[in-house]
Amino acid sequence: MKYIDEFRDREKAAALIKEIEALVAEIPMAKERPIHIMEVCGGHTHSIFRYGIEGMLPKEIELVHGPGCPVCVLPMGRVDDCVAIAERPGVIFTTFGDAMRVPGSKKSLMQAKADGADIRMVYSPMDALEIARKNPEREVVFFGLGFETTMPSTALTVLQAEREGIANFSVFCNHITIVPTLKAILESPDLNIDAFIGPGHVSMVIGTAPYEFIASFYKKPMVVSGFEPLDVLQSIWMVLKQIKDGRAEIENQYARVVPDAGNSAAQDAVEKVYELRDFFEWRGLGSIDHSGVKLRAAYARYDAELKFALPNLQVADPAACQCGAVLKGVIKPWQCALFGTACTPETPLGALMVSSEGSCAAYYQYGGIKAQAGAA
Ligand code: SF4
Repeated sequence: MKYIDEFRDREKAAALIKEIEALVAEIPMAKERPIHIMEVCGGHTHSIFRYGIEGMLPKEIELVHGPGCPVCVLPMGRVDDCVAIAERPGVIFTTFGDAMRVPGSKKSLMQAKADGADIRMVYSPMDALEIARKNPEREVVFFGLGFETTMPSTALTVLQAEREGIANFSVFCNHITIVPTLKAILESPDLNIDAFIGPGHVSMVIGTAPYEFIASFYKKPMVVSGFEPLDVLQSIWMVLKQIKDGRAEIENQYARVVPDAGNSAAQDAVEKVYELRDFFEWRGLGSIDHSGVKLRAAYARYDAELKFALPNLQVADPAACQCGAVLKGVIKPWQCALFGTACTPETPLGALMVSSEGSCAAYYQYGGIKAQAGAA
């Protein structure tokens, strides 16, 4: 397939691995301890496991799977709020499919649907708006979820609803923003990261400039990367080259998709519709200042949080669940005591086991763990 196959070429991958090995041999730090590279985005985590990239790399490189899967970092209390909205009489609750199985404290959206709530999977917020047009007697709520990648489409849908005067549509806004989250990781006392593979899709919207502080203040290299195996390998090579040269810069490997300035139309829609929350709760990472957005007062009539009374409670994860430690790269998924036993993709206890971009689900699916667990 054009534009795909050339980024999955085995010979080129083998040549890149050789170059990575040669580069690692020239980095003094690698002789004393592994070089820790965090891939921020869940899409990269998925590619890394799907194509067995981790197993191809020299043992001196350790990949750390970061918090860039929005489903994985959704706290239980927000899932409970979704269920509370969805179970109200007259409501049609619409959501992307990957949020359906995220566990709440009592039930997931999937279980609420089985119990009779009118919950519908959609592919875009515009689909939800269409449902609102066709059901004027019902309240249609869209579950807005995701980083800057999905934020603009929700914003554009709110603007469209306003243009058409559609009053029975609202958004339960759980959009989150990447930069404060990276800052929180960089400020973490147990930080053990030498460099970052930056998110491709988010950067398509925000560009590369917002990451400059990572290089200038924290002196960590970052390479914004595509998602095919050669993209990821080349980005790892670029990061290592920076470490070897003693540089810390923001580089863009994914220039075929990511303009350095991002997408100004998407940025304008985001700026018009949202404002930063003072703080937002992340599963496994706790509360992070200014890391979530809500609808501006001008769009309050489309804000499901204002339209419906919500429980809005903080709910702690099960005590044995170690999603937070996995998200910060402190432990590997298989080091959680629940991994592959109490917690599997069929019966997820933690959110990292729900989405295919969650590191626990990816390890389970592609790491040979599934076979081992089945054999046990
Ligand atoms: S195995 Fe389950 S509970 Fe443990 S860290 Fe992974 S998702 Fe969380």
